[in-house]
Amino acid sequence: MPKSSTTKKVHRLSVRKGDRVEIIAGKEKGKKGKVLFALPKENRVVIESINMVKRHARPTQKVPQGGIQEREAPIHASNVQVICPSCGQATRVGHRVTESGKKVRICRKCQGDIDKA
Ligand SMILES: [Zn+2]
Repeated sequence: MPKSSTTKKVHRLSVRKGDRVEIIAGKEKGKKGKVLFALPKENRVVIESINMVKRHARPTQKVPQGGIQEREAPIHASNVQVICPSCGQATRVGHRVTESGKKVRICRKCQGDIDKA
């Protein structure tokens, strides 16, 4: 297999596991939820109760009846915005470096820290 010459850049997601986010595009627009986990390589995030898909499962010992299970499918990170804990609005994320040298995310709307400094 020839190696692709285009190296895919892995973006640092502005959304992280545990964040509360709002969906700003797509069929779930306006909904809010908690980020269960982030997939930086795919630029996607999985959000609690958002983008549920039905999966047909074979019967297992654990689930002898098998059948249909619902679970979250990843959505593109550009379709979500972090909800700022200070002002409560969905916002774009900026960064600042604290006095101790720690990089924290800040709200572009109220300039408050999203991460604990
Ligand atoms: Zn804010």
